[in-house]
Amino acid sequence: MMRDDILLKLGDLKQGVRHEIQHRYVDVQGRKMTFSRFVVKTLRHLGQCVPPLAEAFEAEADTPCLHQLIGQFDRYPGMAMPHRMSCVESLKTWILQAEILIKPPETPQPRQRLSSTQQGEAPLNTKAVTTLGGIGPKMAERFSQLGIHTLEELIYYVPRTYLDYHQRKPIAQLSPGELVTVVGHVSSASASMLKNGKLALVKLTVFDGTGRLQASWFVGVHSPKRFAALKDQHEAKFPKGTEIMLSGQVKFQFGKLSMDRPAVEILTYADGEEPSAHMASSHSIHAGRIIPIYALTQGLSLRFLRTLIHQALTNHVNPQTLQDPLPERMRAQYALMPLHKALEAIHFPESMEQAEHARRRLVFDELFYLQARLALMKQRVQSSHDALVLGQKPDGLVSRFLQSLPFMLTGAQCRVFSEITRDFSRTEPMYRLLHGDVGSGKTVISCLALLMAVENGYQGALMAPTEILAEQHYRKFQQWLTPLGVKVGLFVGKHGQKIRKITRVELESGQIQVAVGTHALIQDDIQFEKLAVVVVDEQHRFGVRQRSLLKSKGLEEGKSPHLLSMTATPIPRTLAMTLHGDLDVSTIDELPPGRQPIVTKLTHSLREAYSMIAKQVVEGRQAYVVLPLIEESETVSAKAATTEAEHLQSQIFPHLRIGLLHGKLKPDEKQAVMDAFAQGQLQVLVATTVVEVGVDVPNATVILIMNAERFGLAQLHQLRGRVGRGEHASVCLLQTDSRNPETLARLQIMEETQNGFIIAEKDMEIRGPGELLGTRQSGLPDLILADLIQDREILEQAREAAFTWVGLHSKLTAENTECPPEDRALVSMITQKSEAAWQLISAG
Ligand code: ADP
Ligand code: MG
Repeated sequence: MMRDDILLKLGDLKQGVRHEIQHRYVDVQGRKMTFSRFVVKTLRHLGQCVPPLAEAFEAEADTPCLHQLIGQFDRYPGMAMPHRMSCVESLKTWILQAEILIKPPETPQPRQRLSSTQQGEAPLNTKAVTTLGGIGPKMAERFSQLGIHTLEELIYYVPRTYLDYHQRKPIAQLSPGELVTVVGHVSSASASMLKNGKLALVKLTVFDGTGRLQASWFVGVHSPKRFAALKDQHEAKFPKGTEIMLSGQVKFQFGKLSMDRPAVEILTYADGEEPSAHMASSHSIHAGRIIPIYALTQGLSLRFLRTLIHQALTNHVNPQTLQDPLPERMRAQYALMPLHKALEAIHFPESMEQAEHARRRLVFDELFYLQARLALMKQRVQSSHDALVLGQKPDGLVSRFLQSLPFMLTGAQCRVFSEITRDFSRTEPMYRLLHGDVGSGKTVISCLALLMAVENGYQGALMAPTEILAEQHYRKFQQWLTPLGVKVGLFVGKHGQKIRKITRVELESGQIQVAVGTHALIQDDIQFEKLAVVVVDEQHRFGVRQRSLLKSKGLEEGKSPHLLSMTATPIPRTLAMTLHGDLDVSTIDELPPGRQPIVTKLTHSLREAYSMIAKQVVEGRQAYVVLPLIEESETVSAKAATTEAEHLQSQIFPHLRIGLLHGKLKPDEKQAVMDAFAQGQLQVLVATTVVEVGVDVPNATVILIMNAERFGLAQLHQLRGRVGRGEHASVCLLQTDSRNPETLARLQIMEETQNGFIIAEKDMEIRGPGELLGTRQSGLPDLILADLIQDREILEQAREAAFTWVGLHSKLTAENTECPPEDRALVSMITQKSEAAWQLISAG
């Protein structure tokens, strides 16, 4: 049979399989015979005509062999559906592998093509995986499920883990349980039929001069005739003296060393002939070395994927096709492997150290480009030199404001404010992140920054993520600033046309000097007269785009306003570097004096919790009862909160005034409830997580968080920050029904510490960075290889390298000096990557 005929037969098989799947594995009746008969017949025919095909993949741990398949399809009519499905899956795998074997190997690229890369060999990210042998549309579909469409994606599909068959040992030194590779000569090959008449036990005995090892595995046969054929084949394949390599786990059974289902590779036939190229050799990629293990999808076998990746690496990855963008000196400085080497070694490492080394290079790359992008962003913002310089007068607004405050700034607040005024004194616009734990007093700092604008004759704006917060800031600012003669305006969505029009006009004319609001502030019709300072509160709730939109409101005069972003979500340093690597960071690491520590207590008992609340209320304090978001739905959660409020009112605290706050209330209703609570008219506030950020009612001293296990630690910390804001000692009760030790251990972290940074670190370790920030809107880049917990050190190095590099090159550009040739590849790579990022940001 010619190759083309075999391919045709394989095609028929594939079509039969499709048909059978469509008919839900009924063993569909074809024109001449049933599906299973057809498969058996075709496989037999293929096996007879092309012996190598019958054997090539035989005896391998993860590949069904022809005999097994034939046996399975003989029994197919009597099988239940799940078994039929798995038989069909095995058949599919076998067909695919047979196809690779039969298709001509890709001819290695001739020399001149290699060297002519620069003048136009298609880059790997434009070559589809289908250019490799053995991948048809169906297979391509499976690859796309793994996110692999191009050769580049294929070679960057890194192993999930490795199986170490690298250790090669003389048989005499083997001990049970170890994963090893043994090389020896076949001393006997045999097959015996089991009593059930359906399975054959195939054995190979290997001798390596130091000892004997027996390898064995089962093959389905079904009939004596087929058993006889198998036996013949097995003996013919492994004649005495054949040199083979076995990889697997060593066992000690019945006084003998053995291996079950090892990976077998033939090294040399007894007559000294090398096996054919297809049947691998001592350079096997499946045995005798460290073997990569990948995450798979249905219908894609490990062996197949491994073969393809190897093919792609061998034929398409070399220094010419894959130019390393990192210049030699950078690689030397950070001890990084060349790119093509790293890609080879991540898949087929010679040692685990080499694999680690390769991974380090690839992680460095990923983080380096990210940091380079941030460095460029920072540079773009700061290189404009178009900011308004803001100074402070001896008896100006700012100093009068400070005198009017009922408290002194803490040391940390003073330091942070001086960092801000230093930025204000420069022509590069400020781009600063203010980090401060809940209750550390960021509001006062934002007010000072805004006043700096007013003192210099400009306007300031503060944007908050919710109306509750915006109104709270508005009232606070009014209380602080009205006595100083500064006009504050509120911009929220709920305002009617009339009010909106008035405030808009006042803002445009500059009458309103400080604008406080929600997203309403970035609407198109909002114009400032002369905006100089922008503050974004709880900035993690906003996208980069919203931040820059507000900032752009100041551009009328051709001047950029200064930007202060504030966050109470203490984020671990590595995360901060990844997310806000383009911002300067200030930290308020000290709480105002006289704060009472919050006692946090885990409880299973609601009775206990309620009595704690009752006790505090009797003493004149107030309480929050917080319910988790249920099923990701604010509607369902609102219902749960309503039910809880009714329950408390009718059953537990009939004599108390209980309020209800959830996201489904109208803005006016929300505000009325918040006002009543702030003024002490309500004693207990039942709420969903809408109270999470910023809400400031110092008389509230107890917070009960129901089903605390449903919250992340960082979120619990935020919620806990609602209490402990006044002079009284406060309590945070974490109620949970869970008895799961891990869950309890996690919640106990809350009992142990009140330090937001420690909590954030732990939360990140437990849930991962994405969850910590609330995945999607977090703006966290999709890191494929890098792990922000494990790879801290690489991150620091990549950051240093990227910032240095960007600084150096901007200097070259500024001085009109030409870029050194060895840096050019990297320049274009970074430009490419950061342009994409810019487009993403400006597209929202
Ligand atoms: P957050 O950083 O969480 O936004 P706030 O700005 O709301 O915290 O401040 C929490 C409380 O602490 C407020 O009531 C605020 O007036 C008060 N506060 C801020 N700074 C000081 C200080 N230096 N001394 C005493 N109280 C302060
Ligand atoms: Mg705040």
